[in-house]
Amino acid sequence: MTLDTQPYSLARSTEPSRIGWRDQIRDSFRRPQDLLRFLDLAAEDSAIATAGTFPMLVPKAFARRMRQGDLNDPLLRQVLPAHGESRTEPGYSSDPVGDLNSRQAPGILHKYTGRVLLVTTGACAVHCRYCFRQQFPYPEERALGRGSEEALAYLAGRSDVEEIILSGGDPLMLSTRRLAALTDRLSGIPGLKRLRLHTRLPIVLPDRVTPALLGWMESLPWTVVIVVHANHAREFDGEVDAALARLGTSGALLLNQAVLLAGINDSTTALKALMERGLQARVLPYYLHLLDRVAGAHRFDVELARARALVEELRRQLPGYLVPRLVCEQAGMPYKTPLV
Ligand SMILES: *Cc1c(COP(=O)(O)O)cnc(C)c1O
Ligand code: SF4
Repeated sequence: MTLDTQPYSLARSTEPSRIGWRDQIRDSFRRPQDLLRFLDLAAEDSAIATAGTFPMLVPKAFARRMRQGDLNDPLLRQVLPAHGESRTEPGYSSDPVGDLNSRQAPGILHKYTGRVLLVTTGACAVHCRYCFRQQFPYPEERALGRGSEEALAYLAGRSDVEEIILSGGDPLMLSTRRLAALTDRLSGIPGLKRLRLHTRLPIVLPDRVTPALLGWMESLPWTVVIVVHANHAREFDGEVDAALARLGTSGALLLNQAVLLAGINDSTTALKALMERGLQARVLPYYLHLLDRVAGAHRFDVELARARALVEELRRQLPGYLVPRLVCEQAGMPYKTPLV
């Protein structure tokens, strides 16, 4: 067994004392050549070629889980810019899921009955090359800051909103104080039952799960659901396990959503390992998304027929509760479209 697959890796607890999560974001890799050097790889011209509108961003806590000397490492491939990104392939666009059509107020996406998604910030701790939000106009479209009064006014007037989803970007990029100020304002929504967070931070930067964050979560009057985002078993390590365990103590339900990505997790072995490794951290699978066809993400695409076959095989090999729901998002549909 390698260190990477051990549930609680003792080796990592002997690291020197760490800096806070904000400083860790500042200290992230922002230039492909630095990340490649850290991994003992030659700085490939192809990787350096792209900075573009979506620059590389990789926290060291995440980079430490990558294998040295392996350009095909499944974690590295998710974050390393590639040459073809600036090319637009047929069928790929800047808003593949029709988000801009479901905008009801600044940063408010109300597509589905009872659930409203709030774009709280455009910031993330990591930039995933396949991300469908990479071309979303964040500076104008946030439910906090300048647009917040309009956004909150939209919500205050609605008795049919049962669930608020804090999304982004990544909502946990906001300070806990700002999150608390936001949820204070949400208490005015009469029918609100659930608060959901869509966040990759407990995975890529587990030190974000601070005592203050847990204190805030425990203070919330609603059922809390946290949907994290890991695509590969090796994204979990002892520190991620510990962060998720801390989140679990707040009483939140923990789910994971993943994206099916060519060359990263498009095999039964990789998907099975991901679901099993998540369970070890007390996280059940939620959605497995077919790639949204955002411009620049072409190299990650997996054919629908192959995606279906993979999930079919997972059904044979795993208990039902570890089989994710394969879905894609189609503009104008009342829910995410199930594909198997
Ligand atoms: C995905 C999404 C949701 C949540 O959908 P669920 O099926 O409840 O997970 C809500 N609003 C928007 C705009 C979404 O894109
Ligand atoms: S929104 Fe999620 S998938 Fe997209 S770049 Fe941020 S962390 Fe990655």
